[in-house]
Amino acid sequence: MKFSAKEQAFRADCRAWLEASVPQAPLRSHNTRAGFFAHVAWERRLFEAGLAVVSWPEAYGGRAASLMEWLIFEEEYYRAGAPARVTQNGIFLLAPTLFEFGTDEQKARILRPMAAAEVMWAQAWSEPNAGSDLANVRSTARRVDGGWRLTGQKTWCSRGSFSDRIYGLFRTDPDSTRHRGLTYFMIDLDQPGVTVRGIHDLAGEEAFAEVFLEDAFAADHDVIGAAGEGWKVAMATTSSERGLSLRSPGRYMATADRIIQLWKDGGADPRLRDRVLKCWMDAQAYRLNTFQTATRMMSGGTIGADSSFNKIFWSEMDIATHELALEILGPRAELLATAPGAVEGGRWLHDFLFSLAGPIYAGTNEIQRNILARRVLGLPR
Ligand SMILES: Cc1cc2nc3c(=O)[nH]c(=O)nc-3n(C[C@H](O)[C@H](O)[C@H](O)COP(=O)(O)OP(=O)(O)OC[C@H]3O[C@@H](n4cnc5c(N)ncnc54)[C@H](O)[C@@H]3O)c2cc1C
Repeated sequence: MKFSAKEQAFRADCRAWLEASVPQAPLRSHNTRAGFFAHVAWERRLFEAGLAVVSWPEAYGGRAASLMEWLIFEEEYYRAGAPARVTQNGIFLLAPTLFEFGTDEQKARILRPMAAAEVMWAQAWSEPNAGSDLANVRSTARRVDGGWRLTGQKTWCSRGSFSDRIYGLFRTDPDSTRHRGLTYFMIDLDQPGVTVRGIHDLAGEEAFAEVFLEDAFAADHDVIGAAGEGWKVAMATTSSERGLSLRSPGRYMATADRIIQLWKDGGADPRLRDRVLKCWMDAQAYRLNTFQTATRMMSGGTIGADSSFNKIFWSEMDIATHELALEILGPRAELLATAPGAVEGGRWLHDFLFSLAGPIYAGTNEIQRNILARRVLGLPR
């Protein structure tokens, strides 16, 4: 694969800054309060360096980089072992929606503070009975002077306990069912009528929150798209989440390089060689496929149902790689970060537990397989 001189210069710039700036010692997990705010401080440094949102227009804090350059930035970011992106629910999931459906006023007010990690966002799509079946949303909003009053329960909001604002769908037409009559809102968490309760994950960290709303307020200017059109707004950006923006190949290339090193450090057991190689080849295949998608999109193409292939591929690859890492580590795999002999600060075990969530979030893999069966293969329901 060949990169232009401009792309190579961009890569060199990113590499130089990251090598000089990435914290020497890993930050605490971003799913803990202290760790989250250490990551926020890092995000602010990234923003000041002009690297927080490279592909965005300069007016919103970006540097108008191409999609290809964004992928290059991502490769360098993971290669440098830089901290997890705690702005991701904003910059990767809400921002594409605002770029497509937001008013100029919304873009001017929201995007820059989001990129600068001054306002932290959580995604509030799921409800207790609306996960895979998102159209089953029960939370409601009723019109009042200047805005809306919101009531209901959202759940599984990643890092919601530490966030300032959420976004999600509410039923604004009480007579509607399923996909109709929903509206897409942005909501302040710090207001009367909102209760946020943390939920701990498998690693024992406060990775999620449930959010209870009792007549909470959202102003008219915090509705994205038209009232009643929320489904269309929400669906327009799910493909980019699964297909490109949420999980760039740089992440898996960096993990593949780490597993090769782990295997070599552990005595290069020849019985595991083929599986180590497969991890690296899968990461390479995902990389090349993503560059192909990016090339297609840069020439005006779109990403559609095929993004479901991506989602299944990266989530299953991530589990296989981490399972292999635990096998290489043997009994040492179980050492927690605080144990004296822990390898890489216990990161393989921590990340293995998180990899198990990959087939669930961003639309479960069963649902992705249904989408592929119907829309790509044309099979009956
Ligand atoms: C790490 C992590 C982070 C998350 N972060 C967020 C977040 O920030 N914001 C947010 O809103 N949500 C978040 N979620 C929630 C996530 O979106 C939901 O868990 C997901 O949509 C599945 O919904 P559910 O848990 O209600 O499971 P259900 O929808 O009840 O599904 C249960 C099982 O049934 C299967 N199933 C359901 N329907 C069908 C069908 N039609 N055909 C075949 N199989 C089916 C599913 O695949 C699954 O295996 C997160 C989840 C995880 C694990």
